[in-house]
Amino acid sequence: MSPEHPAARPSYRPATLAVTSGRPPHVADNPLNEPLTMASTYVAGGDVEYGRYGNPTWSAFEQALGDLEGGRCLAFSTGLAAVATILDLVGNGAKVVAPRHAYNGCVMQMADLEARGRISLQLVDITDTEAVVKACDDAALVWLESPTNPALEIADIPPIVAAAHDAGAYVVVDNTFATPLLQQPLSLDADLVVHSATKFIAGHSDVLLGAVVTSDVQLFDVLKKRRDMIGATPGTFETWLALRGLRTLHVRLERAQANAQELVRRLREHPAVGEVRYPGFGAIVSVVLTDGALAADLLTRKTRLWVHATSLGSVESTFERRRRWKTEPATIPEGLVRMSVGIEDVDDLWDDLAAALDDLTLPG
Ligand SMILES: *Cc1c(COP(=O)(O)O)cnc(C)c1O
Repeated sequence: MSPEHPAARPSYRPATLAVTSGRPPHVADNPLNEPLTMASTYVAGGDVEYGRYGNPTWSAFEQALGDLEGGRCLAFSTGLAAVATILDLVGNGAKVVAPRHAYNGCVMQMADLEARGRISLQLVDITDTEAVVKACDDAALVWLESPTNPALEIADIPPIVAAAHDAGAYVVVDNTFATPLLQQPLSLDADLVVHSATKFIAGHSDVLLGAVVTSDVQLFDVLKKRRDMIGATPGTFETWLALRGLRTLHVRLERAQANAQELVRRLREHPAVGEVRYPGFGAIVSVVLTDGALAADLLTRKTRLWVHATSLGSVESTFERRRRWKTEPATIPEGLVRMSVGIEDVDDLWDDLAAALDDLTLPG
């Protein structure tokens, strides 16, 4: 029997890739999982030599996420390390276009670069395709995030990519919210996909990890060189845990999305909820409470099952009022609560939430 790598066949569908890609070959006595290789250095004379340049556990994770996104993947220590490494590619003084409601850690990095004269930054409303297309004109890099965090706006990616490419700009899509199971930006001609693998990919609130995926060989080489040079490399155990998480991404996401869709239906009926933002897919829901910040803060303190915590994309349901962070833009409503729906029983999630919401609407 041929010891062919099981994921070498590109015809596998995403659920099969999530389970099989990045496994050791089917050879007698091979382990089924890529082992955790804790190594800072390797015997001289090979391709890797030192722990900053590569690790078999990273490679397994990179193979799996790369196959799911349809490109070659590089893992980073965090999502923001991946973002910083990409932004470092932009020439001095070049223009970067980005969503005003992108993840605020990304916008903060860009604003910092602008304040230091490194780039010129134009923030755009990502739902206004015409304005975004216009902004692409003299850009070097067009940053997209869709859906955005936490406004859950959707970008019309293809016309923006076309306009960016006409201008000679690279397009990056932060695919953290959609995951490669719901959106594959490289298939829409984006140049780079960035992930906070901390979120849905690792999926268990125990790891910080980032990733970049591209099908552009030149971009891949430049990014790898830069990652290795500045040492934005991932922890090995983190990468191993994230790969273990990735194996069940499709099952977790399917359940979390079904829960989210059901909760959206019920939340829309509740008088304490003024607005429910949900793009129709995924497991993140934002609600704007009728009584603003005070009600939102109360809600996050009144639940037993829902955990008041930042971050998202894990098996357990968490939520927070985003404006409790001073860096969140003023265009995000004070009473907006971002909910990361987990994989618990949806009736337990609703009972807990409804009891807390009912409390907010009681007279007096
Ligand atoms: C969390 C997040 C990031 C940052 O990733 P870290 O792993 O926390 O560094 C980037 N983009 C989005 C959309 C995120 O949600």
